[in-house]
Amino acid sequence: MKEVKHFINGEYVGSKSGKQFDNVNPANGQVFGKVHEAGRDEVNAAVAAAREALHGEWGRMSVEKRLSLVKKVAERINERFDEFLEAECLDTGKPASLASHVDIPRGAANFGFFADHVKNFPTESFFTDTPDGAGAVNYGVRKPRGVLAVIAPWNLPLLLMTWKVGPALACGNTVVVKPSEITPTTAALLGEVMNEVGIPKGVYNVVHGFGPDSAGAYLTEHPDVDGITFTGESRTGEVIMRAAAKGVRPVSLELGGKNPSLVFNDADMDAAIDGHLRSIFINCGQVCFNTERVYVQRDIHDEFVARLKAAVEQFRPGAWNDDSCNLGPLVSEEHQQKVLSYFKKAEEAGATVVTGGGVPEMPEELQGGFWVQPTIWTGLKETDAPACEEVFGPCVHIAPFDTEEEAVALANNTRYGLGASVWTRDVSRAHRMGQVLDVGMLWVNSWFLRDLRTSFGGNGASGVGREGGVHGLEFYSELRNVCIKL
Ligand code: NAD
Repeated sequence: MKEVKHFINGEYVGSKSGKQFDNVNPANGQVFGKVHEAGRDEVNAAVAAAREALHGEWGRMSVEKRLSLVKKVAERINERFDEFLEAECLDTGKPASLASHVDIPRGAANFGFFADHVKNFPTESFFTDTPDGAGAVNYGVRKPRGVLAVIAPWNLPLLLMTWKVGPALACGNTVVVKPSEITPTTAALLGEVMNEVGIPKGVYNVVHGFGPDSAGAYLTEHPDVDGITFTGESRTGEVIMRAAAKGVRPVSLELGGKNPSLVFNDADMDAAIDGHLRSIFINCGQVCFNTERVYVQRDIHDEFVARLKAAVEQFRPGAWNDDSCNLGPLVSEEHQQKVLSYFKKAEEAGATVVTGGGVPEMPEELQGGFWVQPTIWTGLKETDAPACEEVFGPCVHIAPFDTEEEAVALANNTRYGLGASVWTRDVSRAHRMGQVLDVGMLWVNSWFLRDLRTSFGGNGASGVGREGGVHGLEFYSELRNVCIKL
């Protein structure tokens, strides 16, 4: 049995209460490890260590030295690539082919990128006239915000956690991370890396546990936390925002979505099919930007559905380390039940199940896993739950449209505003879509093509604030203006 402990002030510690919970392998449903559950004692100790580190060696360190250490974190993750890969795949069930291209390299890159970025990020300066004619000089200085709580989800555990920890440390903050209870291992393993490269004790801390009445709530409600950055469900985001209101603390929220894609009749059909295979089904549909609603211009709708169905039926579900497989299970039994409940709702609403709609036949050793079939529906009303609520599984509803105006109205008809994709060869239309689709991120003829210098985040129920590039620095640092009268 693997044991996952908290990482507090540079050391691995168990819970005083002795409370532990199971770490379950999503591929077969078996318990393969135990995770310590933090109580208030552990959360208090982690926050105190983070506070102390701000005033110690870390706080006094030159920016040059700090950023070189942050860069070394990236290098060390890459040196220990296979350990991170196995840990991530066992926790999530995702195929190694995916995690070795996305989760681990991009998880490491988040440290390297922000180390470079912070080094080269300018602040403003103004010369101000004064009545005596001597003038004044104003300039901005960016300071760390302090102790930050990082609350992370289970779908891309290392990548989404380091997307916050990377800029937080590059800007000189200290962090207490609460990874998802379902995927605790890589956050814990990262503690070893921090020690190995010489990040001072207390700069990076990890506490494990659940949300309400557990580590998540204790951490976000802690009065000595200076800011909270959260990725997860919109409903949880509301709870976190309420917790942050006490003490008027800033939040950064990356939340859910019900992301549309629009396929126009001038699209490159091959590229559109390939793009949707990724955008709907990658990571078994568990990516915040996954497409869950596709609107296809009527004259190519049937061809699109038929070709996507044929391609989807080629997916091979299987174990993370089986190279012949390319689709993992869902992350937990609870999530499997949620996704299957939407499969049922779709049938009850009279959907045509183009493909999938159930649980696949798996070999005996994987039958206890949380598998579902990749699924395509047509024929739902826009108000039916599977067509308008976030499912977060390998499933999609496809509907026809006639005009551009109608397509835009359908895409925007949601309280979410995370991502969208558009497939067209008409350049003017692509730019028009950039103006009218109400989302934080729009991809044209692509999906999830990321340049870390660009903004990342969503509108409406999909979040508050932007991360990425210079935008993340608004949250991860405080801007101070210095005015010098000459
Ligand atoms: P979740 O909201 O259930 O949990 C996220 C984290 O919050 C976990 O660590 C959990 O323990 C913690 N938590 C839960 N309740 C809490 C509370 N009351 N106080 C403090 N912490 C609490 O989300 P999830 O199921 O892990 O992730 C899936 C969701 O995340 C989906 O809705 C998905 O769209 C969203 N997501 C968004 C983005 C983005 O960038 N916008 C990225 C990935 C995932």
